[in-house]
Amino acid sequence: MKKRILTGDRPTGKLHLGHYVGSLRNRVKLQYDYDTFLIIADVQALTTNWEHPERLAQDVHDVATDYLAAGIDPEAATIFIQSMVPAIAELTIFYSMFVPVNVLRHNPTIKTEAKQKGYSELMYGFLGYPISQAADITFCKAHLVPVGKDQAPHLELTRKIVRRFNELYGEVLVEPEGMYEKLLVGLDGNAKMSKSLDNAIYLADPPEEVIRKVNKAVTDPARIHKSDPGHPHVCTVFKYHSEFNEQFVPELERACKKGEIGCVECKTRLATRLNEMLDPIRERRTYYEARQDLVDDILQAGTARAVEIGEKTLAEVKDAMKCNYFARESVRSG
Ligand code: SF4
Repeated sequence: MKKRILTGDRPTGKLHLGHYVGSLRNRVKLQYDYDTFLIIADVQALTTNWEHPERLAQDVHDVATDYLAAGIDPEAATIFIQSMVPAIAELTIFYSMFVPVNVLRHNPTIKTEAKQKGYSELMYGFLGYPISQAADITFCKAHLVPVGKDQAPHLELTRKIVRRFNELYGEVLVEPEGMYEKLLVGLDGNAKMSKSLDNAIYLADPPEEVIRKVNKAVTDPARIHKSDPGHPHVCTVFKYHSEFNEQFVPELERACKKGEIGCVECKTRLATRLNEMLDPIRERRTYYEARQDLVDDILQAGTARAVEIGEKTLAEVKDAMKCNYFARESVRSG
């Protein structure tokens, strides 16, 4: 049996190159080696966007289209919608019984996010979303979870919940391992590419938009003229070349340090490379955008599989907790 991966995104808009480098590219690579589950975490999107649930339908669709455009094969991977898998909600409730509130309050990711969003009081759903993430991961007994470094405290909590559950009720859940993802800097040189910082190139951006955005990218501030010796390691464009255009890097590093290449030429080469890379993604997007019913069918089939697996795990959990009341055989033998 293949090992299982659980990964996914909150549907809060279109995906960008940061998502691609951090996870999407890897998911495409791993999808045939692992049983890959891709969750579109719409309930978790509501923890910060509860005032605008009307956006979810489009955002869910956009994320699914981004996955397919990036090369996720619906025959190999299971793409599903979180809110449509009842077992996830039920497991969240069960796990909530033995996670102390202070553990959630002191979670560094929750603290940072709450500060960034300026929350003066914390909603129950927001404070508790790491428990819901534990349910996302454990409903399908995932072995591996690719996550950003900022999500590491959440994964640690999931591991603790699994250990605690198994200790309290019996060995049912699988303790997942983390696979840490890369971060891509933003076009403004900020440590992270992000929609909220307006420093992102989207997978759906057309070629001219990619060129326009790359032209705005922050470079080595010490370089005024082409002949000025550059410091490529402080330059955002150099970091992008290192990520997407590796072959060119040794030559670029030498030429930049010697002042033999101008930033305009360097950016043009980067935009060309990015557009070459994005072209097949654009082609697949065009295909799926013209077949919206097919995207719906893929989501429904993936969700049906997730529901089935979730029901099985939930039955085992209830058996272990001795609250599968009418399944007398399993309660007695448990
Ligand atoms: S030449 Fe390229 S790597 Fe060097 S500073 Fe300009 S944009 Fe950056």
